[in-house]
Amino acid sequence: MRLDVVSIFPDYLAPLDLSLIGKARRDGLLDLTVHDLRDFAHDRHRTVDDTPYGGGAGMVMKPQPWSEALDHVVAQGSSAFPGAAERVPTLIVPGPGGEPFTQQIAKDLAEEPWLAFACGRYEGIDERVYEWAGERMPVRILSLGDYVLNGGEVAVLAMVEAIARLLPGVIGNAESLIEESHEDGLLEYPVYTKPAEWDGRAVPEVLLGGNHRAIAEWRHEQRVQRTAARRPDLLPPVAAAAALADLEER
Ligand code: SAM
Repeated sequence: MRLDVVSIFPDYLAPLDLSLIGKARRDGLLDLTVHDLRDFAHDRHRTVDDTPYGGGAGMVMKPQPWSEALDHVVAQGSSAFPGAAERVPTLIVPGPGGEPFTQQIAKDLAEEPWLAFACGRYEGIDERVYEWAGERMPVRILSLGDYVLNGGEVAVLAMVEAIARLLPGVIGNAESLIEESHEDGLLEYPVYTKPAEWDGRAVPEVLLGGNHRAIAEWRHEQRVQRTAARRPDLLPPVAAAAALADLEER
């Protein structure tokens, strides 16, 4: 998968060199390039922002550096897909006013060959850039949650990690992806490791017995209870209803 990230703080993306994502890059599973938006500003101060029309607080990111940066991303990235006619990335623009980023969206995006991310700063990017980009490539505005960050970089770190770990070969044990929270609408069951007793607290007896069916039933029950307690909003959907029905059948 090819990934391009455009930011005024390329160093913010340095953690993408670490851990499993860094290894995936070194193993050639991820081809990730970070671009400095200021390279596409042509004045002496490499200005990327200006005051908002209509007044108001803060600054707005100017359209011209963005169009040049995205043209560059498309031109440079297209050469990574030899033979393909007119390839373009799907452009992800993180923003608090976007569609909530979910595990399902991560899965959908993990199927794509090429994603580009535009990290906004200040009060955001001039609205015309969304229009301009939308005429050239698919654009998705995605929110990390109902709160406001200073910039898109932290959101991109989270999204890239959630997407990249779904690619074949990135996580050593692919089975660990199957039972995770948000895979089927339920949260994960509680997990324990050695010692069997710590600080006067014992690991639940059922996990020590080696009865796989009993363990599976206990874990399922825990998932339903935990979801009901912490995220009742997840329960009405189909997956949770099916999980409850399944539990009753046992
Ligand atoms: N004025 C904007 C608003 O109220 O919608 C907020 C701008 S915020 C200070 C600057 C940048 O941070 C945004 O352009 C976006 O890239 C990023 N950002 C902030 N909150 C975010 C969130 N919840 N999810 C994704 N990106 C976010």
